[in-house]
Amino acid sequence: MGYDLNLIRMKKIQKAFIALLLGFVLAACGTTAFTGRKQFLMYSDESVSALSDESYSKFMKTAVISKNTSAASTVKSVGSRMTAALASYLQGIGQADHLAGLSWDFTLVSDQAVNAFCLPNGKIVLYEGVLKFADNPNHLAIVIGHEMGHAVARHGNERMSQQALLTSAGQIAAEVFTRTKYGENPQYVELFNQAFAVGTGVGVTLPFSRKHEYEADKIGLYIMALAGFDIYQTPMFWEKMASANQKSTFDFLSTHPADSKRIAAISASLDEAAKYYRDPNMK
Ligand SMILES: [Zn+2]
Repeated sequence: MGYDLNLIRMKKIQKAFIALLLGFVLAACGTTAFTGRKQFLMYSDESVSALSDESYSKFMKTAVISKNTSAASTVKSVGSRMTAALASYLQGIGQADHLAGLSWDFTLVSDQAVNAFCLPNGKIVLYEGVLKFADNPNHLAIVIGHEMGHAVARHGNERMSQQALLTSAGQIAAEVFTRTKYGENPQYVELFNQAFAVGTGVGVTLPFSRKHEYEADKIGLYIMALAGFDIYQTPMFWEKMASANQKSTFDFLSTHPADSKRIAAISASLDEAAKYYRDPNMK
C-alpha cells in the first residue's frame, strides 16, 4: 500500500516537473525580428546587456579611438540613420520589444585590422582597417547593418543559451527558474565570456554559426533598405573583401567567411530586401 502511495506521489512530482519544464521552455522561446524564426533564449535582455556593458567598458579601456574624425563621424551618422530607420519600422509594426536592451553606439578604433564587431547591447566597434574596403557610407552601412542584424536578432543570447544547454542544462535551468540576477551567478559571466571571448584589445573573436551569419546578412540588407542605402552594392563589397583576403587574412573574414555560398545567399535575398525600401524610387 505504502509503495503504491509513493508511486502516485512520484508520478505527481514527475508531472509537476514536466509541466514546470514545459513552462520554462515556452517562456524561454523567442522569435527573431524580421525573419520570424523561433529561438531559444534563456536570458533576459537586461542580463545580457549588463554583461555586454562590462565587456565593452573593458575593451574601451585599452582601445585607441580613431583620430580620423571625419571617418568616425561618417560611421556615427550611418549608424544613426540605420538605427533610426530600424526603430521607426519596428515601432510602426508594434515590435519595438526587439529593441529591448539595445543602446546603440558606433565607435571607430585606431587599429589597422580589418575587423568589426557588435556586442548584444548594441555597441558596435569598427576598426580603421575596414575603411580600406568600406570607403563610402553605403559600404559602411553593409558592415554596420550586418552587425546590427546580430544584435537585433539576439544572436548573443541565443548562443549563450545553446551553450548553457550543452554544458549544464539542468543546473542552469533551475537557476533561471529562480531568476537569479546575473551578478550573483558567476556562471552567466562565464557563459557570456565563452560566447563572446571579448579580450582586451582583441575584440570579439568567436565566430557566430553559419545560420546566424546568414540571418545577420539578411537583416542587415533589410535595415539598409529601410534607411535608404543601396543594397545592390552588397554582393560586390563582399567579393572585394574575399578576393583581397586571399593575400592577407582579415580578422573580420575569419569570423564572417565571405565564401561564394554566402555571397550567393546575399544576392538571393536582394529582392526580398528591396520590399523594405520606404521610397519606391530606390528599388
Ligand atoms: Zn557576423
